[in-house]
Amino acid sequence: MIITKQDIPNFLDSLKNNYQVFAPVKQDNYTMFKAITSGSDAILDYSNSKIPPKGILFPQTEELFSYKVDKQGAHLEEKIDSEQKVIFGIRPCDAKSIALLDNVFNNDKYEDPYYLTRRENTVLVGIGCNQPQSTCFCTSVEGGPFDTTNLDLLLVDIGDKYVVEVLTDKGKKVLTSAACSDASEADKQAAAKTKESATVVSKVNLDGLKQKLDSNFYDEIWDSISEKCIGCAACTYSCPTCHCFDIVDEAKDCDGCRVRNWDSCMFPEFTIHGSGHNPRPSGKERFRNRVMHKFKYFIDVNNATACVGCGRCIQNCPVNLDIREVLADIQGSEARSVS
Ligand code: SF4
Ligand code: SF4
Repeated sequence: MIITKQDIPNFLDSLKNNYQVFAPVKQDNYTMFKAITSGSDAILDYSNSKIPPKGILFPQTEELFSYKVDKQGAHLEEKIDSEQKVIFGIRPCDAKSIALLDNVFNNDKYEDPYYLTRRENTVLVGIGCNQPQSTCFCTSVEGGPFDTTNLDLLLVDIGDKYVVEVLTDKGKKVLTSAACSDASEADKQAAAKTKESATVVSKVNLDGLKQKLDSNFYDEIWDSISEKCIGCAACTYSCPTCHCFDIVDEAKDCDGCRVRNWDSCMFPEFTIHGSGHNPRPSGKERFRNRVMHKFKYFIDVNNATACVGCGRCIQNCPVNLDIREVLADIQGSEARSVS
């Protein structure tokens, strides 16, 4: 199928009749995913958003329920968001990260109704990356600029129009309100050529990395690798796969609410015990945990690497700590391709 760029604002406006529509919009100097009020707000020729759209499914701050105690007893009101949503223009790496988050919020031990309800009611419309950034390394972590993992529709930009790949029934349903036409042979060839010419130049070598991490917990390499880190957590807050959270009660007299907030393993308070003991007392242990979690523990538990190669942690780190260099140092390899 084909949809012209000119028709996209009308398409988004029509979707708004049935869905809450999120799309990349300009905010100050950044691109961010926001709920749009008009189809013309969406900026689709963007490189990637400053913060991933994961917060649409797993908000940075979320009231889980409110409570009230009175003479009749205790009353709870659960806050499940069941609104139908479309995330329009998500990049393939960010869509793949949601498949990884699914393992966390829906598994044999836990089913998180807050995340799962949003997830079931959300349609993911992706746009492939014609020009991957110098910090992208998705192809090293089983992704790619036109990877369709987890997407309902994929749009391929071929100039003044998109070739639309319909991947699921959810995607098909969304497309019914679009002014689409059939793709010609020339359109299909243009899409194939676009995919072929999208080059991800940056690479990391994951061969044997897991085996190294299985046995290097006490290695002195962690001292030097973590030295520069100032523990600001910009890397984890901007990572599409990070999912640590904290739950607090905010109460006043007999009323209150329970709130879930993003947290980060880069903060000292994250692991401090009630006794005052902290099993990760310095930046070294915290940085090691971040790397271990993504490239060892998540594989142990979910058989997948918890990194999609989006490059945000590289772009946002104030001291230029580069995960590609960290992994190369662990590998003991000089063979890097870092721009
Ligand atoms: S670790 Fe860095 S490159 Fe990997 S998914 Fe997270 S932010 Fe992106
Ligand atoms: S963004 Fe850089 S300095 Fe901040 S916690 Fe992450 S690695 Fe450390």
